[in-house]
Amino acid sequence: MLPWRVSKNSSKKLYYRLLSEFMLQQTQVKTALPYFKNFLLHLPSLESLSKSNERKVLKLWEGLGYYRRARNLLATARILVKENKSKLPKKIIDIKKLPGIGDYTANALLAFIHNQPTIAIDGNVKRIFSRITNKSENKIDFNKLIETNKKTLFKTKRHSDFVEALMEFGALICKPKEPDCFKCNIKNTCKYFKSDKKFRQLKKIKPEEKNYNIFCYIDKIKNKVALTKKHDLGFLDNFYLPPIKEAIINNKIKNWKFHSNFKNSISNKKLNINLYYKFSSKLPLQSQWFSLKGNNEFIPSFTKKIFKQILEIN
Ligand code: SF4
Repeated sequence: MLPWRVSKNSSKKLYYRLLSEFMLQQTQVKTALPYFKNFLLHLPSLESLSKSNERKVLKLWEGLGYYRRARNLLATARILVKENKSKLPKKIIDIKKLPGIGDYTANALLAFIHNQPTIAIDGNVKRIFSRITNKSENKIDFNKLIETNKKTLFKTKRHSDFVEALMEFGALICKPKEPDCFKCNIKNTCKYFKSDKKFRQLKKIKPEEKNYNIFCYIDKIKNKVALTKKHDLGFLDNFYLPPIKEAIINNKIKNWKFHSNFKNSISNKKLNINLYYKFSSKLPLQSQWFSLKGNNEFIPSFTKKIFKQILEIN
């Protein structure tokens, strides 16, 4: 059983659900699991998280990516402890005011914590409903569909289990690629199963690749590299990176040595990177020196990959 599925009377329920929901935004269950367990070893309760500092939380999140989630989780924990007696608000409008909580997470928490009749609409739920109705996702108003069918959908009193069951159903039976229709208990009401003319699933649009140049100032004697928080990558806002600029193709780079070209995907973006370097003991503006080995500071994995490459330079 997944560790965040604790009993409905457990005092840990809110914290475990909150932590797992933040981790599972953009991350798969199997990747999130070891991070979830390790996080609890260091910060076992909502109160301990609320008293923690951002550096510690980011360090525990290191490698999971989308670091804004970690900052929002900390801010949400502080608000809940300070302003709401460590409880989740009962109204969706108030839950959605918490940092990093959008429509999906708010509905999931409302069902998990307060057992309210609601459905958290994610890609999983959209796929299931679009198959049952045999309609393409872009032709369905999901909120309207739920509202129209609420008497059937919310017949049960176990709303928390229902949301959980929908997730399991999408992962194990009505799977993204090949649904296991013959094992499915609702196949007799499913239009996709019964129809000879099955709708076609929309193809996902691949993110466009962007070109960037990265410039590493290396202090060879002290084994340090200059990092800055002032850069062009909006999605790694407020994190230390070497100076990075969107590249203009065919533009020659003077006074820098070319090291390598590599690809990286972060935050749903594809980057094609040219890495340049120069040896210099002069710190560039708005930068800080960082040791190439044994840093205690939180450094995103994107920057760590660059460190690895720099260490290869003789
Ligand atoms: S019958 Fe097949 S397509 Fe329809 S809900 Fe079940 S698993 Fe999904």
